[in-house]
Amino acid sequence: MGTENPNRPNFHQGPTSTPFAAPQTNMPIGSSRPMVGSQLPAFRPTSAPAMPNSSPFSSPGPPAGSGTPRFRPMQPGRPAPSYGPPTTGPPQRFSAPQFPQTSQPPVSQTSNVGQPMLPPSMRPPPSTHVPSVPMGSPPQSLYTVSSSNNPPYSASGPNIQPPPSSTRPSYPGYPGMQSSTISPPPPPLYNQGGYALPQPAIPAPFSSHQGGYGQVPPVASYVGGSAPPTGVTPGLVEDFSSLSLGSAPGSYDGGLDAKALPRPLDGDVEPSSFAGMYPMNCDSRYLRLTTGAIPNSQSLVSRWHLPLGAVVSPLAEAPEGEEVPIVNFATMGIVRCRRCRTYVNPYVTFTDGGRKWRCNICALLNDVQNDYFSHLDATGKRVDLDQHPELTKGSVEFVAPAEYMVRPPMPPLYFFMIDVSISAVKSGMLEVMAQTIKSCLDKLPGSPRTQIGFITFDSTIHFYNMKSSLTQPQMMVISDLDDIFVPLPDDLLVNLSESRPVVEAFLDSLPSMFQDNVNVESAFGPALKAAFLVMSQLGGKLLIFQSTLPSLGVGRLKLRGDDLRVYGTDKEHTLRIPEDPFYKQMAADFTKFQVAVNVYAFSDKYTDIASLGTLAKYTGGQVYYYPSFHSVIHKDKLRHELARDLTRETAWEAVMRIRCGKGVRFTSYHGNFMLRSTDLLALPAVDCDKAYAMQFALEETLLTTQIVYFQVALLYTASCGERRIRVHTAAASVVADLGEMYRQADTGAVVSLLGRLAIEKSLSYKLEDARNAVQLKIVKALKEYRKLYSVQHRVGNRMIYPESLKYLPLYGLSLCKSTALRGGYADAQLDERCAAGFTMMALPVKKMLKLLYPSLLRVDEYLIKTPAVDDEFDKICKRLPLVAESLDSRGIYIFDDGFRFVVWFGRMLSPDITRNLVEEDPATDFSRNQVCLTERNNDMSRKLMGILKKLREADKSYYQLCHLVRQGEQPREGFFLLLNLVEDQVGGMSGYADWMLQIHRQVQQ
Ligand SMILES: [Zn+2]
Repeated sequence: MGTENPNRPNFHQGPTSTPFAAPQTNMPIGSSRPMVGSQLPAFRPTSAPAMPNSSPFSSPGPPAGSGTPRFRPMQPGRPAPSYGPPTTGPPQRFSAPQFPQTSQPPVSQTSNVGQPMLPPSMRPPPSTHVPSVPMGSPPQSLYTVSSSNNPPYSASGPNIQPPPSSTRPSYPGYPGMQSSTISPPPPPLYNQGGYALPQPAIPAPFSSHQGGYGQVPPVASYVGGSAPPTGVTPGLVEDFSSLSLGSAPGSYDGGLDAKALPRPLDGDVEPSSFAGMYPMNCDSRYLRLTTGAIPNSQSLVSRWHLPLGAVVSPLAEAPEGEEVPIVNFATMGIVRCRRCRTYVNPYVTFTDGGRKWRCNICALLNDVQNDYFSHLDATGKRVDLDQHPELTKGSVEFVAPAEYMVRPPMPPLYFFMIDVSISAVKSGMLEVMAQTIKSCLDKLPGSPRTQIGFITFDSTIHFYNMKSSLTQPQMMVISDLDDIFVPLPDDLLVNLSESRPVVEAFLDSLPSMFQDNVNVESAFGPALKAAFLVMSQLGGKLLIFQSTLPSLGVGRLKLRGDDLRVYGTDKEHTLRIPEDPFYKQMAADFTKFQVAVNVYAFSDKYTDIASLGTLAKYTGGQVYYYPSFHSVIHKDKLRHELARDLTRETAWEAVMRIRCGKGVRFTSYHGNFMLRSTDLLALPAVDCDKAYAMQFALEETLLTTQIVYFQVALLYTASCGERRIRVHTAAASVVADLGEMYRQADTGAVVSLLGRLAIEKSLSYKLEDARNAVQLKIVKALKEYRKLYSVQHRVGNRMIYPESLKYLPLYGLSLCKSTALRGGYADAQLDERCAAGFTMMALPVKKMLKLLYPSLLRVDEYLIKTPAVDDEFDKICKRLPLVAESLDSRGIYIFDDGFRFVVWFGRMLSPDITRNLVEEDPATDFSRNQVCLTERNNDMSRKLMGILKKLREADKSYYQLCHLVRQGEQPREGFFLLLNLVEDQVGGMSGYADWMLQIHRQVQQ
């Protein structure tokens, strides 16, 4: 919106300067020179003329112009070298094309990250002794905004002023929603500048009405799991939970009853209030807010110490029958607000006999076009609502007409850049990869338009002519790494259906072609540039398979490795960021030309994932890391994940924007993408496995509206070649009460944001600082919460927390113990740590929570019981707390974090059972023989394999490789399982009970 929305005078305040501002906020593709790509016409179709189809990117200095024309076709008559050892020089000399440069240098981190500006109200009280690492505080500028449009808040008046009924008739398709959800304004709860505790007269003072917003759906009165709050008013249970500290019978480590601690053993539980209040909202799989209650004032925001924002997964997989409806306005054009460009949605209102509609985001009264006109019924609803999913559903997909295109929609395009050096061959990676790609050729989306191409490299770069008239591909070898050019530019990327036999011949022969290769070098950077030159005309997905540290040519990386001495110093974070600006610059160039990069890394040594992953991070891509890949062990994982990557529905050349109502503004974005302007996310490729997080802030001191609307719009090219806009719309209530914000908090969204912020922080600060920031946020939030409720209820030494956030401390602890953030030098390998960070930045909420608090299931009882009844599994196998005490040495357990399984065999387990499940002698050391689980010819084995299959099918985004561990078998047991039992005290990190006591002490200070 921004420039398109005159209502937003404060929009151009420059880059955000929060400590967590994503470094990409001012990446090379900045707003000063927007790409005339797909985004501009997309969001202002009426003002931007359609670009000629033949010139896809007519921005100054188009790469297609500067790059491709310089390609010279292969000289006729000179045969291209066919397969042969890749040691020959270039078959001929071509002039090197000029490598397109972006107009701006790559950007360094925002300079003021170290000194976040906290407005006075955000400063921790002086008595606070918790570590004072600020985290994600909104920039000061946000707090100085005042709007003359907003009358000063009057303490005596209603804090929510409903607009005149003439301007807000009832919602179409949802009669009376407004009147049923907005109760008469309750008395104000605060005066300007200060906060007075409400003094309700009723005995249950924490009814949900005190916050200025009525009709809060019932909060589940949860008591199981956490200690019954004895001594606390019963009504309180509905709002918050408490834990006895100090005097509980059977107390544990300093007085906390560990059994009473809340645990998310049912996985992600979404707050029901949000969807219940606004049934026309998009499903929470697409959009989740950290709280469904939007604070109405800056002072309230300053007391909400958790992130205020959203997690968006625009293409999340929908169960069958719940697919997003496709709406085609055809010649009419997509109905959007004239002023703010909001897409028509269930929350717009029709007036004037159906001739006008009011925008729910900016309140502008728009004319209804003739061909969109419908009469209204007596309640003000359009009579044709049932024919318009865009007016009844929170999620729709509009077919975009020509003005949303600057070039013909691109075909799905897959380009592979494959390391063929000795380690790639010896590990078996090359073979598994080639077989997998071949097996997916029929399932690549977009047939018959799909394009495909390959480059391989070691110390030289090998191109493959895949022209459909050939029977075998022709290889061309380029050894001059300083002067990269592309031979035969027209035949390197080919239409898959036309060149299918050549592509298959290539994939069949690829492993044997290099089987005797002893080359250890990696001309990664030059190969990357070559891939760029090939792909820059169309864009697409670049899949990189890398087995060694890039060693030759531009972008070569040093074996800088991990260094114990820098941990704990202010240089520590530099280990986790790319050393050479080449990678960020290339990522910027790729994004600009609609190329998404997925990095598959396989090395058994340091490969500098921090640098390689940058390519995925800024192009909307993904990092897959298979340390010490060996096909015998890892082939299933690679096969599954590569197949998923190749065949999942993908949105191409996409941009995404999230709009919100007046007075609220998105300030920072977190995930894998590049910001093209202040609020437009460039996503060369998006799929169902990606989520993006963003934070918002109030632009005004006080919000005068009672509802804030959010609208996510993803403009993309579908694999079928249609240009589409997927739109998700949601409403949230504005409240004047902190308690209400807590009541409607969404732990999953909060944790997703906290996690992303902490990982970003670890790129500028020490790990310890990032962890402290997580802890501090939780402490501050609980402290504020305690202030709200403790006085009247004399909770004493009781730890109190909102029911909605009861798992937050545990997830916070897990976050601090996650591979990305835990410990220091010895606690996670550097590459592994960086890979985990890149992965977590893109995870959807449920996946993130599963990773942070994996499931632990005891399965021996189920395995022994006959016969297998499917629904018995869920009955018998309950999730267990992640503590070593959960493990009985007579049992078998499955640990599942969504990325791997660990199957743990107890020491006292009957050898007969083990014999039924694994081939080896029960006494075999699992570590020595790479024992794998395969289905054996007995019921028990079939049942176990059935469980694993079922767990894998629950979420197909990654493949859980199965590791077998025997009790007491060190160090594997420790590494695979014990270290991941997050509730235990492991490796110098607190256990859950200790962590709660620490937090409680800090809250009380
Ligand atoms: Zn509008």
